[in-house]
Amino acid sequence: MGATYIGRFAPSPTGPLHAGSLVAALASWLDARAHGGRWLVRIEDVDTPRCVPGAAETILQQLAACSLIPDEPPVWQSQRGAFYQQALDRLVKDGHAYPCACSRKDIELALAAQGRAHERHGELVYPGTCRNGLGGRAARAWRFRTRDEVVNWHDRRLGPQQQHVEREVGDFVLRRADGLWAYQLAVVVDDGLQGITQIVRGEDLADNTARQILLQRALGLTTPGYLHTPLVLGANGEKLSKQNGAQPLDLHDPLRALNAAANTLGLAQQQGSVAEALGAWQAQWRDSYNLPRD
Ligand code: GLU
Repeated sequence: MGATYIGRFAPSPTGPLHAGSLVAALASWLDARAHGGRWLVRIEDVDTPRCVPGAAETILQQLAACSLIPDEPPVWQSQRGAFYQQALDRLVKDGHAYPCACSRKDIELALAAQGRAHERHGELVYPGTCRNGLGGRAARAWRFRTRDEVVNWHDRRLGPQQQHVEREVGDFVLRRADGLWAYQLAVVVDDGLQGITQIVRGEDLADNTARQILLQRALGLTTPGYLHTPLVLGANGEKLSKQNGAQPLDLHDPLRALNAAANTLGLAQQQGSVAEALGAWQAQWRDSYNLPRD
């Protein structure tokens, strides 16, 4: 990997960084630095109704307070619609994407008629109604055409992973009925355009990886390496989030916040300056992943 390593942290600006999101930020930064690589930040503000005004700026300030400084100015997904459109056009041209006229209700009814289970993580497994045409109905969304295949991939922490996307997820949405770009398409297009070689992010996102690999293949993009980091759990035992009491990071004591994140990553606690702590963790990271020293 060496000089060709490019990593990223890709927060959705739905609120400030909290103890859970700092784990992914720190891990992606450490992995990039330990490989002598570059580290980028991408603001994933495609799902505009969920974005909170000012949250992206707060996140960047929080990262800076922790001395996690990107090597290039951050890119904002809300400004990159033309790239997503180009990718969708190509997928349609190559037969990998098709328009869909189904509402949620239509999908529920079709699944019920087939006697199939409805939900997976709160999402409906699309029964493929519009695969062979809209039957005169108006297009609402665009979907990726999955196939009868198992996607195998490797996670540096979780080991070998696999998913039969067609069966477990179904033909997934690329552009939503409300016109917004879906996370799956935006993230794959941007990781490709930015030349990301290693994706380091929270374990809650691991389940998206097979879908993203299918999109990479359909768009002729190289599949990066993957490392999904441990989650910080809230008081209710679920992933820490604003909904279960995550507090924004305290910018007055960045070392304390970083030590908590480092602890989740199995790294030793540090005292002294933030710079010294980050240096010590880089060395530990290199050792635990057997990376060569500079
Ligand atoms: N924007 C996504 C999130 O904050 C992360 C995307 C990714 O790292 O692939 O949950």
